[in-house]
Amino acid sequence: MEPKLVVHNGGCHCRKVRWHVLAPTSVVAWKCNCSDCSMRGNTNFVVPHERFELLGDSKGYLTTYTFGTHTAKHTFCKVCGIASFYTPRSNPDGIAVTLRCLDPGTLSDVEIRHYDGKNWENSYNQTGISLCSKEQSAIDSTQQQSVSALFIYYLFISEALQRVKKWIIVELEITYCRNLIKE
Ligand SMILES: [Zn+2]
Repeated sequence: MEPKLVVHNGGCHCRKVRWHVLAPTSVVAWKCNCSDCSMRGNTNFVVPHERFELLGDSKGYLTTYTFGTHTAKHTFCKVCGIASFYTPRSNPDGIAVTLRCLDPGTLSDVEIRHYDGKNWENSYNQTGISLCSKEQSAIDSTQQQSVSALFIYYLFISEALQRVKKWIIVELEITYCRNLIKE
């Protein structure tokens, strides 16, 4: 069951960039130690792209910094410099919302998990962080598909076993009959 989603508001320091995001009241936030995150003390939680919406003329106040693989789009406010949200390398199809840029009052519980950005690939594989931008229904349907695939595989194997069984019985019968004839 997917937890109930509520609207969280937030934005940058000068309030030129404002947005709202649909997320549960209880979230898992990632504290990363990569070169960029450690400098700005970044702790964020990731949502599917469609759950995030920029408000008013916020877009006009944004500029983007990229580095390394240039996958992450570090969007920040041109006026005050605050990166209130960005597109993370771990979830290029999602949005990472800066925990401290949320207006207070709508989050009830935050579980902080450490992301070892210094060993990025290892962390990526071990944490399963890439699922954060996927809707639960999409994850469920992928699991459903693998269950169906397992079931088809099971049917195939049992059919094959039945055939082997029949073949063994026929072989045994032939041997038995040959022995009878010899006797
Ligand atoms: Zn600003």
